[in-house]
Amino acid sequence: MISRNARLDELLELNIVRKRIVDDFGEDAIQLIRYMRGRSEVSDANIVQDTGIPEKSVQKSLLKMQDRNVMDCKKLVDDKGYITYLWSLDENGLLEYLEKNVFGVFDELIIQLEEGVELYYCSSCSKESPLYFSYEDSLAYKFKCPNCGSKLEPLTPEIVHKLKEEYMK
Ligand SMILES: [Zn+2]
Repeated sequence: MISRNARLDELLELNIVRKRIVDDFGEDAIQLIRYMRGRSEVSDANIVQDTGIPEKSVQKSLLKMQDRNVMDCKKLVDDKGYITYLWSLDENGLLEYLEKNVFGVFDELIIQLEEGVELYYCSSCSKESPLYFSYEDSLAYKFKCPNCGSKLEPLTPEIVHKLKEEYMK
């Protein structure tokens, strides 16, 4: 279990976390999440104004996050009938999402390895570079980490267990 307090800042620095967030919620999602931390009930217009992220990108990311219970939305109608949507980051929702979708990756990796899939990793920089490389990619990189140049090593279930612990610390 990830502890539910100030862990988010740390998690948002991890390559594996950032990649997943960008893949799922859009390229500006990290900036959006950082901006929304500690704020609540912010309108799209304010987000756009404060962050400089294009409106379309803000709205797309917000809706995708709402779908995954990472963002809460409150609809506000004023006496003239104008509708404003007010957004709040659900930090517990975000942690749950990360636990399932990011850290769940380790469990899937173990299953793949146990089924005999050949994977490689860089023991020097797995937190900065991709967590693992397929056999084909490793071959293409001549079994050298494209990030730091170290030799890529075969990934085993035991190593995945260790990596998972490290990442979840
Ligand atoms: Zn490396």
